[in-house]
This record gives sequence, C-alpha cells and structure tokens, in this order.
Amino acid sequence: TNPKFNYRRILLKLSGEALMGDEGFGIDPHVLDRMALEVKDLIEMGIQVGLVIGGGNLFRGEKLAKAGMNRVVGDHMGMLATLMNGLAMRDALARNHVTTRLMSAIPLNGVCDTYNWAEAISLLRQGRVVIFSAGTGNPFFTTDSAACLRGIEIEADVVLKGTKVDGVYSADPVTNPDAELFHTLDYSDVLDKELRVMDLAAFTLARDHSLPIRVFNMNKPGVLKQIVMGEPEGTLICH
Ligand code: UDP
Repeated sequence: TNPKFNYRRILLKLSGEALMGDEGFGIDPHVLDRMALEVKDLIEMGIQVGLVIGGGNLFRGEKLAKAGMNRVVGDHMGMLATLMNGLAMRDALARNHVTTRLMSAIPLNGVCDTYNWAEAISLLRQGRVVIFSAGTGNPFFTTDSAACLRGIEIEADVVLKGTKVDGVYSADPVTNPDAELFHTLDYSDVLDKELRVMDLAAFTLARDHSLPIRVFNMNKPGVLKQIVMGEPEGTLICH
C-alpha cells in the first residue's frame, strides 16, 4: 500500500437506503453502479476494502414487528435483505471488473460463501473486495453493529459510514438550519451530547476497541477517494 494514503484497510458501511436512490423501495441500478465505481477507485489505489451493506431499503425487523410479525422472524428477513443487496453489489462490482467475494453470516449454500475470518483477511490482502452480508447473523442487532464487529475482526483502520448528510451535526440539519457540522469528535462527546451516529451497541463496540468511525456523505462523487487521500471529509470520531 502507498504510504501517502490515510488508510490501508477500510470497512465501508453503506445503508440499504443508500442503494435506493430516489426510489421508495429496492435498488436503483444507477446508484449501485456509481458506488461500485467508487469502490473500484479505492481498489485501484491499493486500498483494501471490506463492505457491509444494510437492508433497510427492503426489510427492517423492527418495522415488521410493529406490523405484527414476530421480531426474530422480522430480523431474519432483514438479514436476508442485506444478502440481496450484497448479491446486487457483488454483481455491480463484477460488471466493473472488480473481483469480489460475498460472505454471509447465515450459510446459504450455492449462493455465497459463509463468513470465514481467515479467508476474508487473505482475500483482502489479495486486493479482493469482501462483502460481509447477513449482518452479525443474530436478531436484535443492526448492520452498524456488523460493520463495527467485522471492522474490528479484520483490523480495519476505520469504519467509513456513508450517509445522506455531510457528517455528524449538533442538531438535525434537515429541520434546523443552525445545525453545526462537527469535524472531529471524541467517543465520549458523542455519548455526552447524545449525538446520533449509530446505535449504542455498535458505537460502544467501536469505542471499546478504539476503532475510529468516519461519517460522511456518500452522495458526493469521489468522496471515498478524497477520504483516503486525507481530505477532511465528514466527521471523524476517535479517542
Ligand atoms: N439485522 C439483524 N441483525 C444484524 C443486522 C441486521 O437482525 O446483525 C436485521 C434487522 O432487522 C435490520 C435489518 O436486518 O433492521 C436491516 O439492517 P439495518 O437496519 O442495519 O440496515 P440499514 O439501516 O443500514 O439499511
């Protein structure tokens, strides 16, 4: 890896909604393609990329439970949704000539590989993209937890959390025009100010293992490249 880059190995977390574009449900093929090309840029720079994709564009256990479904079953559906997004992303990457391995925390023989830590590390070293799908494999968790868990396991330098806004604000920037964008935050600032970065289980896992989190706007073209080149994009949360 080139020492001039900020990061050697990253864990990129994309929400399912990021793939949805302006549609209300599902996957926008143009958005998917654009994200695949952004990941390709990183691979061409020699950056190792692990990817966790959410499933909120398809199903969320919590929402299904509110409509009457058993929560565990709803979460199973949510995890399978992340797998569908993973299949779509692997396909988009392959079409753009990026060799990718799709791993699932829930075995799905014949469709993708089962998560294997040692194999994932080995593939990352070979410059392959590894997509970690089906979240943690357990209900009552989120893909943010999966991103932090896998990020720690693969010894990623950072979790890059792509969102629809520029980073972490003092208030909701959509409803409050005076909301201030933070450039850096300490883990304790986030907890003290009760800032919404990710759910607490995911956040404390990152904090306890000193895994830095960077929240950034995934809709800015070329943003991943900028981050890796050391541009002060988004909000960095660390000790
Ligand atoms: N999920 C789960 N366990 C996990 C990760 C995800 O049960 O470890 C389920 C949960 O129902 C969740 C859904 O999968 O709502 C989709 O994941 P998430 O909400 O994190 O997706 P995102 O908001 O990032 O699109």
